[in-house]
Amino acid sequence: MSNDLTSILYLTSGILFVLAIRSLSSPETARVGNYLGMFGMFLAFLVTIVNLDNHHLINWILIVSGITIGATIGGILSKKVAMTDMPQMVAALNSMGGLSAVCVAWAAFLSPESFGLIYEDQIKVSSLIEMLLGILIGSITFSGSVIAFLKLQGTMTGAPVILPFRHLLNILLFCIFLIGAFSMFFEIQFNHTILFLIITILALSLGLLLIIPIGGADMPVVISMLNSYSGFAAAIIGFTLGNLALVITGALVGSSGAILSYIMCKAMNRSFIAVIMGGFGEESIGISSNENKPVKIGSADDASFILKNASSIIIVPGYGMAVARAQNALKEMTDKLKKMGIKVSFAIHPVAGRMPGHMNVLLAEADVSYDEIFELNEINSDFSQTDVAFVLGANDVTNPAAKNDPQSPIYGMPILEVENAKTVLFVKRSLGIGYAGIDNDLFYQENTMMLLSDAKKMTEEISSNL
Ligand code: NDP
Repeated sequence: MSNDLTSILYLTSGILFVLAIRSLSSPETARVGNYLGMFGMFLAFLVTIVNLDNHHLINWILIVSGITIGATIGGILSKKVAMTDMPQMVAALNSMGGLSAVCVAWAAFLSPESFGLIYEDQIKVSSLIEMLLGILIGSITFSGSVIAFLKLQGTMTGAPVILPFRHLLNILLFCIFLIGAFSMFFEIQFNHTILFLIITILALSLGLLLIIPIGGADMPVVISMLNSYSGFAAAIIGFTLGNLALVITGALVGSSGAILSYIMCKAMNRSFIAVIMGGFGEESIGISSNENKPVKIGSADDASFILKNASSIIIVPGYGMAVARAQNALKEMTDKLKKMGIKVSFAIHPVAGRMPGHMNVLLAEADVSYDEIFELNEINSDFSQTDVAFVLGANDVTNPAAKNDPQSPIYGMPILEVENAKTVLFVKRSLGIGYAGIDNDLFYQENTMMLLSDAKKMTEEISSNL
């Protein structure tokens, strides 16, 4: 295939990716967006295969086996994974992106002639820079994503692990990395393969140290940041491989991930720079105990009575709704309330659930109308004029500690101010903590009634009472 045609086809797949991302920004066009992305990827893949210089049988066997194994594992995992485990899946996929970049950089380093990276018997300086960047970003992405995966999976504590002098340690590691990288340029007499290995280990340790201090509540930002890193790692490796499609795709993933991280940081009132430096979450102490406080516990009958007599209700869904798969029961309940002439709206916090847009996806699945769904800043001031805030399986996103307790790990994060409603109904199974691991004083407030039950069961019971 001619170079011009290859470039045009790669560019076409790039345009398809841009259109895919554009379409994914709204639930109405998201399905089309997925198809556009899949088609773009298929096109890029096809052009790459057709352009292979070396059509040896062994190459084809390797390519076909790689695709078969990868597609089978990916297919099985994505079919099996629960919606609530999506962040772990994304973390695992990010780690694979990072690891691929590291592997390609190593392959190019060990066999530069096969990649056409030799000039006057030496690896080209530009190619060496690309490899070192690929190693740095790829390794940080890989080890950071593994830690994020273990934290999200609960295999490792979700609480921040604070090492003494960690900022100093990070800077030291980075400086040693830079010295190692410069030594490679200036051909200092040292075995380059060992140096490359040391550099890789340093970058892997850096990824580990950057993510380990980050606490559970800040994980959404970490996931999108690692996603962005994996994109940039792919883009850099695209240069090494001379593959335009990989450069375009990597840049798209990198920049859209960075924009998402920025949006999430703003939503959670975190500093973008602090996130990139892995430097937040450290002051997270101050877990209080509310064991002996009086609490008002109600039943489905009580809740139905309160809801029936309200004229406006705001529903706040959270992670518990996703676990219980209560969205359809909720839709049925709200339909009944609306038939009684009651105004019902839905308030979505940007980090509710376990992935960006988690609640929007579930409500869309249950056919809740988009114009009944409001973002935090659109609806927060309405709580004070609302009769009932119905909190279904949410916790951290309503916790006033974010406003009142500077020691809290979620301090500074904007919350849905449900406490301003006349009555707050909290549906959850216990008085236990949310993802950030802290108590919620709202459970003990005068105008709160706790409905201790599984979200779906309670919603169905209320619905049948209505
Ligand atoms: P939380 O994790 O704070 O709270 C969810 C609550 O749901 C729990 O307290 C739990 O209480 C309850 N619950 C669990 N299962 C059920 C069930 N079957 N029926 C009823 N209730 C149930 O969720 P939020 O949505 O309020 O906040 C999300 C948190 O997750 C934030 O801290 C956010 O930072 C973090 N996060 C968000 C990500 C994102 O991208 N959105 C990604 C990673 C983390 P009980 O056990 O008593 O029932």
